[in-house]
Amino acid sequence: MSAGLPFFRYHPDPLASGSIRAAADTCACCKRNTGWIYTATFYTAHEVNARFCPWCIADGSAAERFAGEITDSYGFDGVSEDVLHEVTRRTPGFRAWQDPHWLVHCQDAAAFVGEIGYTELAAHPEALDQLRADMRIDGWHDENQLEHFLANLGEGATAMLFRCTVCGAHLAYADAS
Ligand SMILES: [Zn+2]
Ligand SMILES: [Zn+2]
Repeated sequence: MSAGLPFFRYHPDPLASGSIRAAADTCACCKRNTGWIYTATFYTAHEVNARFCPWCIADGSAAERFAGEITDSYGFDGVSEDVLHEVTRRTPGFRAWQDPHWLVHCQDAAAFVGEIGYTELAAHPEALDQLRADMRIDGWHDENQLEHFLANLGEGATAMLFRCTVCGAHLAYADAS
């Protein structure tokens, strides 16, 4: 990974996803300026501007000091407590219109890849098929409407792409304002 950043198993390229950016901000946890700053979600009852360096995320010190969760622990069905804690306390989250949620595959948390549009999603047919199936279950019964929505992903609505850390399959969910 670039710049000697810590490696995040469940968010392998937080620079590409935009969750960590080059910036001269001071980390709210360790008070150092590492040249890198976290830009996405943090849930806590404390008053804190959740600008953390990647290292305070990686070692869990930011989540511990501010008694918070980087990602909400909702939706991690079937994963171990260790994995749950690694994702919610020691992994950069991401920004979305709706409350971000993590996808699970092969009883493990999937790795977050990034926010994408239709073209990138279509490059992973298994993810497109899975999203289509999930949306039918969610009540999208009009096939034309569904295909129109999918084809326009990237304009307004987007897809959040993940990759299974076990079998490598790509999976996605749709996010809209
Ligand atoms: Zn720090
Ligand atoms: Zn899998």
